[in-house]
Amino acid sequence: MKYLLVLLVIVIAVGVWRKRRRVEHLKAQRPAPRRENRLQPPQDMVACAHCGLHLPRSDALVLGASPRPEYYCSAEHRAQGPA
Ligand SMILES: [Zn+2]
Repeated sequence: MKYLLVLLVIVIAVGVWRKRRRVEHLKAQRPAPRRENRLQPPQDMVACAHCGLHLPRSDALVLGASPRPEYYCSAEHRAQGPA
């Protein structure tokens, strides 16, 4: 009876070990996601107050503050003001 219990523990341990190995093997086979294929999060687009050109908010020049800032595509248009 004692040996049967030891055998059962060994069988369970081997089963767990094999399952873990299979999961690691599958992980290794799956190619890592390539950086260049990942999409960038969408950016807020704003329109230039002078010419209406749409550009990412991070690239725009801002004049004024919230709640209604004016965005410009270039320093030239910012100097000319809204159309
Ligand atoms: Zn502009």
